[in-house]
Amino acid sequence: MPAQHPKTYNILPGPKMGLVTPDYLEAVAAAARRHNIPLLKLTSAQRIAIGGHSPEAAAAIWHDFGQGEGPKKPVGIHYIQACPGAHWCKFGRQDSPVLGKKMEETLMSIPLPAKTKVGISGCPMNCCESFVRDLGVFGKKNGWTLIFGGNGGGVPRIGDIIANDLDDDSVVALAKKCLRHYAANARKLERTARFMERTDLQKFKEAMLGN
Ligand code: SF4
Repeated sequence: MPAQHPKTYNILPGPKMGLVTPDYLEAVAAAARRHNIPLLKLTSAQRIAIGGHSPEAAAAIWHDFGQGEGPKKPVGIHYIQACPGAHWCKFGRQDSPVLGKKMEETLMSIPLPAKTKVGISGCPMNCCESFVRDLGVFGKKNGWTLIFGGNGGGVPRIGDIIANDLDDDSVVALAKKCLRHYAANARKLERTARFMERTDLQKFKEAMLGN
């Protein structure tokens, strides 16, 4: 087993859905050079990690990026991933980053019982692994399909399809309804996968879709 070492890492603020500007990349490169960090890591959450440095350097890097003592832990959605979508990918059916932005504006502030991850894929190939995210969405010709209760961790679970053929506003509204129901009924720290395992899917869908 590799030995633990006292160095640490920072997940940098800024990138959302893996979209970054040249200016941001230059600022990251400058910070890495300033602290003699030879390698950066692109994380599975589409963010940038600077790793393998001292706690003192970690604090200085947070300061460089205007984060004070370090970023506050989110109380709700941990991150939103989105694939390139129809705007950039030849297979894309719907525009994932545009939907990701709408989801971010509407959902990020909802307090939730546990870490919650969102994956948005522009077509049924599901490059953002939407079936194993707490809240997953993928695009088809007629709109979005919403999935709830997936998990890719140590006890994986394929999420349940809640509805198909939703436009942007409808999928955001349904996602909000699912998260609010989860927040009101889940145990503290209970992930959506475990919550859905003890939930009657038909009743859940009836409550969410009103039929
Ligand atoms: S999910 Fe579809 S649209 Fe998104 S990157 Fe993969 S192939 Fe392209």
